[in-house]
Amino acid sequence: SPRLLERREEAIRVSVRLRPLMDTELRSGHHYIWRVSDGQLWVEGGTPDIPKSVSDRVKGVQFGFDHTFEGDAATSDVYKKVAKGIVHDAIRGINGCVLAYGQTGAGKTYSMSGDASHPGIISWAVHDVFNKEFLLRMTYLEIYMERVHDLLQDGQAGEDSPLENLLVKEDPSKGFYVAGLAERLVSSEGEVYEWLSRGERKRHFARTDFNEVSSRSHVVFTLIIENSQSSAEDDDVKTTRIGRLHMVDLAGSEPFGAAISEKAQAESKLINKSLFFLSEVISKLSARAEASGKDLADSFHIPFRESKLTRILASALGGHSRSALLVALHPSHCFLDESLKSLRFADKAKKI
Ligand code: ADP
Ligand code: MG
Repeated sequence: SPRLLERREEAIRVSVRLRPLMDTELRSGHHYIWRVSDGQLWVEGGTPDIPKSVSDRVKGVQFGFDHTFEGDAATSDVYKKVAKGIVHDAIRGINGCVLAYGQTGAGKTYSMSGDASHPGIISWAVHDVFNKEFLLRMTYLEIYMERVHDLLQDGQAGEDSPLENLLVKEDPSKGFYVAGLAERLVSSEGEVYEWLSRGERKRHFARTDFNEVSSRSHVVFTLIIENSQSSAEDDDVKTTRIGRLHMVDLAGSEPFGAAISEKAQAESKLINKSLFFLSEVISKLSARAEASGKDLADSFHIPFRESKLTRILASALGGHSRSALLVALHPSHCFLDESLKSLRFADKAKKI
């Protein structure tokens, strides 16, 4: 509706998704600690299996969200409530962004990419977009140690040839962009998945320690949707709208213990820094959206430039755009600190 197109800014929608405990976790003494229902998350009092020291710390803790999803929720439902509206707006030329945040193992990749039998948000989005006819291009990149790697570039990445670091530049008219990033024209869902798996292979081949590194990088999949329509007044006058839709699997948010390598410490520091600026950007944008229409709105400085991630996502987070943050939460009482960190991150994103 035109009303939607005129809307200047809105705060980010924040949701939380719990995953089920695995049998192996249950057998090794993990217990469910979080309860969710109707947008609320809390800890059930008097849970006998959870140590008192843990339950005391979270007594009375409660967080509110736009949506909450229990361990048995289907990703199709998550898609419908969290992402679908953003995808449909992207088709109409409004930039959008869906971010998955949380500690390693909490379900970010399951939510975004899914697996063979559980399609992720990306699959549902790609399917929705291909149901209509548009000119579609895609890009796929990772940000590792504040380096931007193109996962769709030609040429074989190998253990001896690290992925090239692309520069994020700024153009007065088009804003931030990644210089030299490959844009692939895609004409079917199958082609999207071919490129995505090619990109995944590139990530693997470029390093020997893939499993360690995989959770230490942000992965950004972008659909560029070009939509040409005749104008209402004159059939010969076409207007082209371009919507960029980013789907982001963020690096693991967990803090590191003491006994880690220097490299892991350096990674951790940069991840913390980029996640910190992501939350700064989001919370300042939320505050600005709240103030929009008042003189106040101009006085918000949004620190987009402070990290590669926020620069790359700038046009989809700020201005005329829509975004959603999905917090993947580990259900176990053993990860209380990590979970509280994720919940505080989510809270800050919403806070006005
Ligand atoms: P992350 O990407 O946050 O590190 P993953 O998405 O890889 O975490 O999830 C860790 C494990 O938990 C995987 O084996 C995944 O299949 C499983 N998992 C995550 N979320 C769910 C869910 N909602 N339902 C069932 N299994 C899940
Ligand atoms: Mg993952």
